[in-house]
Amino acid sequence: MQIDCDFDGGSIEILNASDPSSVALALRGDNAAEYMQWFYFRVRHAAGVACTFRIVNARQASYPGGWWEYGVCASYDGEHWFRVPTEHDGQVLAIHHRPERDVVAYACFAPYPTDRYEGLLDQVRASGQQGRPLGVFEVGKSLEGRPMNVIVCGDQGRSVPRVWIIAHQHPGETMAGWFMEGVVRRMLDEGDGVARGLLDRAVVYLVPRMNPDGCARGNHRTNAAGRDLNREWLYPDRSAAPEVFHVREAMQAGGVDLFLDVHGDESIPYVFAYGAEGVPSYTQRLASLEERFAATLERIDGEYQRARGYELDPPGKADLRLSSLYVAERYGCLALGLEMPFKDNANRRDPHLGWSPERCRRLGRSTLEAVLSCIDALR
Ligand SMILES: [Zn+2]
Repeated sequence: MQIDCDFDGGSIEILNASDPSSVALALRGDNAAEYMQWFYFRVRHAAGVACTFRIVNARQASYPGGWWEYGVCASYDGEHWFRVPTEHDGQVLAIHHRPERDVVAYACFAPYPTDRYEGLLDQVRASGQQGRPLGVFEVGKSLEGRPMNVIVCGDQGRSVPRVWIIAHQHPGETMAGWFMEGVVRRMLDEGDGVARGLLDRAVVYLVPRMNPDGCARGNHRTNAAGRDLNREWLYPDRSAAPEVFHVREAMQAGGVDLFLDVHGDESIPYVFAYGAEGVPSYTQRLASLEERFAATLERIDGEYQRARGYELDPPGKADLRLSSLYVAERYGCLALGLEMPFKDNANRRDPHLGWSPERCRRLGRSTLEAVLSCIDALR
């Protein structure tokens, strides 16, 4: 048996792989911060062998609640991901699997590959070259020099609402990448009424990958300098978190009327959103907009629910370093964080796949419909 993680987004430490029935592994952690959760590794030459992979430091993970009622994701082709039997005893995370093929990958959640992201950008560029109002703009570079890409949908010369959807600030939350694929593909679909409605009545800015360095490195939470980008929005440090600095500047140029920030939650097995009730300038108007968005999304997509989620912030106590809370305060606009599970949606369990790339994409598609339902009320 051969184990490696030397590829896009890979992360694991191999302690002892001499006995397939008890392979000792460890979470590696982010390159420049204490966060530790994400793993993604590949196993070769174990077809037909009953393997147990033991992640021995699972208890020390940043979100140990993420390991309960959780199944590790596995794939033979990097495209179709399924869950494998996983045990947690409060210390070790044990993966039990007899691979059917010579090469198999295991991951914390289905990884969103960089080449897939780049392919999506190429489709947008091609669509723009065919005369559709879609394009990709580089607004700056990440700390390690990767492009910070913003997809722009709609003619920017008009005085219409500006919608921003950003995702994947936390690199281990790869569900955000799949979600954005659903969003982008829908915007690319010429025959889609929701996409047409948005192109006619708004400019939609999409940032599918806020943290390209963290994604490439296989970090869970932070960028190459160890910064949690979703704590950088109030005073972005250009030298340590240029990713936020550049996107924030681009937002400033045209303003923001609706903002969504897409994430995954390690522990909570539901799809939910959090609003801006704790920002100092919160108003009844924002509360009504939040209600309208949430009620629409709940109606059109049964995965989304409002009964479970984070506790509400007390009035005035919001942490304005978070993107959606900063934006709500700065622009006085509807701004939400959207969370998907790593585990599954406990209201609609799928023991074989759990929360899956396809469900992320579908939710992305539905979210655009909820956005459209709010457009006329934004200004
Ligand atoms: Zn997150």
